[in-house]
Amino acid sequence: MPQLLSLIVPFYNEEDAVGIFAASVCPVLEAIPDTQWEIICVDDGSRDATLPRLLELAAAEPRIRVVELSRNFGKEAALTAGLEAARGDAVIPIDADLQDPPELIPAMVAAWRGGAEVVAGRRTDRSTDTAMKRGTASLFYRLNRYISNIELPENVGDFRLMDRAVVEALKRLPERQRFMKGLFAWLGFKTAIIDYTRTPRTAGESKFSGFKLWNFALEGFTSFSTTPLKIWTYLGALGAVIALLYAVFIMLRTLIFGNAVPGYASIFVAVTFFGSVQLISIGVLGEYIGRIYVETKQRPIYLVRKFHNF
Ligand code: UDP
Ligand code: MG
Repeated sequence: MPQLLSLIVPFYNEEDAVGIFAASVCPVLEAIPDTQWEIICVDDGSRDATLPRLLELAAAEPRIRVVELSRNFGKEAALTAGLEAARGDAVIPIDADLQDPPELIPAMVAAWRGGAEVVAGRRTDRSTDTAMKRGTASLFYRLNRYISNIELPENVGDFRLMDRAVVEALKRLPERQRFMKGLFAWLGFKTAIIDYTRTPRTAGESKFSGFKLWNFALEGFTSFSTTPLKIWTYLGALGAVIALLYAVFIMLRTLIFGNAVPGYASIFVAVTFFGSVQLISIGVLGEYIGRIYVETKQRPIYLVRKFHNF
């Protein structure tokens, strides 16, 4: 029995990438021995001609299947939709813009057949990303190592081969807010790493920028660590100790030198400082409460309008 390989590709406003993607991926898949393949294209509510182009491909090639989402749910939700629709013995999420080189897929399959349950691609060279993006990414990983109990392997993205067992495990994680990198890391399993160079986008432009990346980082921290909640206990304790020492100092000074009535500046500084600290800590609480709120609603992660070629 040949094994089935499923590719999962999220598409959001990628009309120019659709054709190039299929043209470069299909030959690679055909050349892998003893495998059948399917490509699950998830249209994440694109507003351009992405969907009609995908359907055109699907009409000509029954192994290209299309999951049409009802609106834009974001990449993580689109990947989840693809994972749930995939039937392969091994599943590989891959970006539509060919920034994850399809040429790596045969090597991933070989490592999987050699016994690895996860074969992750690691970017050795991110020179195609902006200096800003590289800098903030590295800061994120470093900070995450301090505050989180799950170590995120650096420069490893969503491009990875997963055995069926791993996919089934991933499907059991029910959270609505899906920080995929973290979820992958949380799963464990026997993992092999393959290095590759990240190439520039083939067409279109990146959907992740500035504020979106910041929110992504917050998601990462709050999904896998409660440290940001706990530091306030210690900061508060430290502040209380300092305040107490200062009170003792003032009392002694008054007893020894009498009361000279200054102190406007120190009171003002203390009031504004602790006011801001309290606002920040309330903000951190808010981040977590907001996430609890979203999780308790138990809404589906994505909605499908239609399955094509299933
Ligand atoms: N994507 C998606 N939904 C979104 C944003 C992005 O499905 O809301 C897809 C996008 O079409 C692409 C992949 O996610 O296939 C990666 O996006 P992008 O290349 O913009 O991210 P970057 O490579 O810049 O991190
Ligand atoms: Mg990209």
